[in-house]
Amino acid sequence: MYRQPVLKNRRTLLERAEKFISDVYFTDCNLRGRLYGDSCPLESLASFLSSKRIPFTEAAKQNFAPHKVGDTFGPTWWTCWFKVSLKIPESWRGKEVHLLWESDGEAMVWRDGQPVQGLTKEGEKTSYILSECLKDEEPHSITLYVEVACNGLFGAGQGSMIAAPDPNRKFSVQKAQLVVFNRDVQEVLTDFEMLVDIVKELGEGEQRGYQALFTVNEMVNLCDPSDPRSFSKARSLAHSFFSQRNGESQHTAHAMGHCHIDSAWLWPYEETIRKCGRSWVTVIRLMEKNPEFVFTCSQAQQFQWVQSWYPGLFSQIQDYVKKGRFIPVGGTWVEMDGNLPSGESMVRQFLEGQRFFNHEFGIVCKEFWLPDTFGYSAQLPQIMQGSGVSNFLTQKLSWNLVNTFPHNTFFWEGLDGSKVLTHFPPGNSYEMKGKVEDLVKTVKNNKDKGRANHSAVLFGFGDGGGGPTQLMLDRLERVQDTDGLPKVQASTPDKLFSQLRADSALLCTWTGELFLELHNGTYTTQAQIKRGNRRCETLLHDIEIAGSLALCRDGTFQYPAEQLQKLWRLLLLNQFHDVIPGSCIEMVVEDALRYYEDIQSDGAKLLKEACGALGSKGNAAGVFNSLPWERQEVIQIQDGAGEPAVGILCVSFQADGSVLMENGILKMVINKDGTLASLHLINANREAISNGCHGNQFVMFDDVPLYWDAWDVMDYHLQTRKPVLEVVQPIHVVSSGGLRSSVSFTLRISDKSTIKQEIVMDAMCPYIKFNTEVQWAESHKFLKVEFPVRVRSPNATYEIQFGHLQRPTHRNTSWDWARFEVWGHKWADLSEHNFGVALLNDCKYGYSVHENTMTLSLLRAPKAPDANADMGTHHFTYAIMPHAGSFQEASVIQSAYNLNFPLRSIQCSPNTIPWSAFSVSSAAIILETIKQAEDRKRALVLRLYESHGSSVTTTLLFLFIQFTAIWHVFFVVFCDLLERHDPTQPAHMTSEGITLTFSPFQIVSLLLIL
Ligand SMILES: [Zn+2]
Repeated sequence: MYRQPVLKNRRTLLERAEKFISDVYFTDCNLRGRLYGDSCPLESLASFLSSKRIPFTEAAKQNFAPHKVGDTFGPTWWTCWFKVSLKIPESWRGKEVHLLWESDGEAMVWRDGQPVQGLTKEGEKTSYILSECLKDEEPHSITLYVEVACNGLFGAGQGSMIAAPDPNRKFSVQKAQLVVFNRDVQEVLTDFEMLVDIVKELGEGEQRGYQALFTVNEMVNLCDPSDPRSFSKARSLAHSFFSQRNGESQHTAHAMGHCHIDSAWLWPYEETIRKCGRSWVTVIRLMEKNPEFVFTCSQAQQFQWVQSWYPGLFSQIQDYVKKGRFIPVGGTWVEMDGNLPSGESMVRQFLEGQRFFNHEFGIVCKEFWLPDTFGYSAQLPQIMQGSGVSNFLTQKLSWNLVNTFPHNTFFWEGLDGSKVLTHFPPGNSYEMKGKVEDLVKTVKNNKDKGRANHSAVLFGFGDGGGGPTQLMLDRLERVQDTDGLPKVQASTPDKLFSQLRADSALLCTWTGELFLELHNGTYTTQAQIKRGNRRCETLLHDIEIAGSLALCRDGTFQYPAEQLQKLWRLLLLNQFHDVIPGSCIEMVVEDALRYYEDIQSDGAKLLKEACGALGSKGNAAGVFNSLPWERQEVIQIQDGAGEPAVGILCVSFQADGSVLMENGILKMVINKDGTLASLHLINANREAISNGCHGNQFVMFDDVPLYWDAWDVMDYHLQTRKPVLEVVQPIHVVSSGGLRSSVSFTLRISDKSTIKQEIVMDAMCPYIKFNTEVQWAESHKFLKVEFPVRVRSPNATYEIQFGHLQRPTHRNTSWDWARFEVWGHKWADLSEHNFGVALLNDCKYGYSVHENTMTLSLLRAPKAPDANADMGTHHFTYAIMPHAGSFQEASVIQSAYNLNFPLRSIQCSPNTIPWSAFSVSSAAIILETIKQAEDRKRALVLRLYESHGSSVTTTLLFLFIQFTAIWHVFFVVFCDLLERHDPTQPAHMTSEGITLTFSPFQIVSLLLIL
């Protein structure tokens, strides 16, 4: 038979096939136009509007008023409940019948009082399947409820996704009807789509792309949209193409369904609960239909929400967890920020997360899962290993603005040398759609070609939830082993990492932090959240220590384990990767600050009770020191008594209006405008302030990023530096002599913003404190304070979780200058041999040290997604500490702890003997945590770490035995961070304590059985 030749015109052939499945063009005659058959209106539609997020049982009792398709409802954040009565025509026997529902907002379908499926236009879910093949015995008259949240998958941003929400948005239902769904048309459409995409993605350089082109062209020839009998010929052509197999060496894509749900971001926590419900119930529906489908799901907190809000759904999830298909991953309470939480907070993320997963599902996660956070602390590998986790998955470093990270699969070595196998899915996404493009990228982008032959493909709508769709599964199912594309297998994190580990001989190692060269404003944005976090971390630390000591002292003391767990979980929740970084909307900020207040008010009561049990009852003033070293500090007591007549401090005005202050350790000259003209370390006879410069110099910068407002500070902001020079009130003495002297001054930043500061010098204190109050009403400005110091060093040191690391002070390479704004915890230090200066803080995280200028980042003023971010009054304290020797020898670390953990005044009987509970013989070892063990009441967990970066042998003394007659230490064992004791490592006790050996930055946990 004569056939017309296929001309050499790739473009017309390709576009012909595209138009054949287009949902825009030629739908009157193309295949897409045949997707739906007959339709039929609903019997009735009625609605009820609620300002609150109410449970189904309450909603179902309300009065529903008639509602027409197209009627509007709202405003933003309200909920519209719909009662849908429908009757399926009997003539649709044998057909697949859907409720087609297209509305704004995110919806949940309820049937017989149970949530059954999520519907969101943005997440490509607009059909609820009523019957796959209608039979006479099936119910034809059905009543459903549809709960529509008045917010989209990405909240309700005004104009752009990250703009502040529009509070008055209106919503509508555009389509609500019954339709016949032609599954056979859908199947051919998917064949076509995959082949068209193969043509496009493989391009003109690959012969396989041309084979796809001619296949799809012939399929158009064979396929008559009006005659379903013609479909099978087209399908069998597609099938032959998809069945042409790869060779054995082909890359394997491990396909796992996923649904990244931010625990709060452009919507509040409460809405996230419903996002989990909508997304996960849809996953269960897909699992029922697709026996191979595997879904990975992180964040214990979200499971706990679903457990309490959707118990029926939770038990279905439990069933699928047992089958190994719904897989809890990550092992943490939430996907927390990877930089800002303290070391102990990170431990608790794993402790709470792993314990929840173990309790509810009998699972201990083996991988840490943090695809979307803004950098990863160098101490994470050790914390992971200590929490039963040896694998790590993320992809965020693909967002680097300057340097391309060189690996996708590698070993990540932490501060102490712990290593974890790490995988960045080369598709650079955690929300792929199962498309050809995703698979091609996964192979092409892989920077470990020839070293690692397996990669993760995480598919499903994410960030705002949504998750996988049937179409994504159908796409992947077609190309499981198709020549020209990677092999695709439904997989699990376990399978992926086992494969990678089995064949890891050629993998490279990356040592130190995984620094994200973007989003560096998140160390500073939403200062109140940062302050709340630091305060609550220290408060919980103190409660646990006071409670543990009370337990030692008084056998009847009830350690508040349950209350502490509740408070910890609130704190951990606020460490979510869009909350503590400050990249969330104002509603979330309000929730977060309320949680901090709850922690502080409930925590204050717990601390008072615990401290009350530390000494005999009475009204005399006592002091509780929660740190494991002796302290001599000035504390203010309320009655103001105790000021000695003879001062040991010296304050005097100079002729030029500057003030000289001296405490025997430091001598400083403060200019009229509050800047430091001189800061002299007396014993070492060293000046700390750089020649001709002033310390404590406030500086303002224009801070206009390229897009991610709350997130980003760009390198070019440094070009806009302006010192704050206008003095409203020059320095004047607030208190002089005695044990504390201080001066105060006020500066004007602008007509809307001012800085009021008290500079405090305490007797015997090696640092100067700057108690600062800022009235802040700026727009796109960045406030910092600078200390140009007389130190020369190529590296500065920054405290991180359970340790510290160095970063360059120069800008030699792109890797150096990309770190123009970095994070640190309680201190940063710049030292040369035998002298240095440390900059401490009580609630800040953003630092930079360039050449000899040390800078602390104080406040930003972004306008999206919170239009009012950081507006108002701020209080914070920083401190400057010149020192002789190294920062380790000078006790900079201890000083920063002292600044953050104030001595707490308590009341006790006047004849209470001072007592200490524990003592560590080496200054390098910090006893960070003392708490009651999770699983036994008469047991304590002690966590210590090596803070100097040295190998140390030390003795931990159990002094409390001398002061408490109640118990004695029965035995001591090493345990991991999950408090599982390690029988291979017995601890050797002597009569008074235990000898411990540490390697640099090692964390050691002990279980003391009392
Ligand atoms: Zn996220």
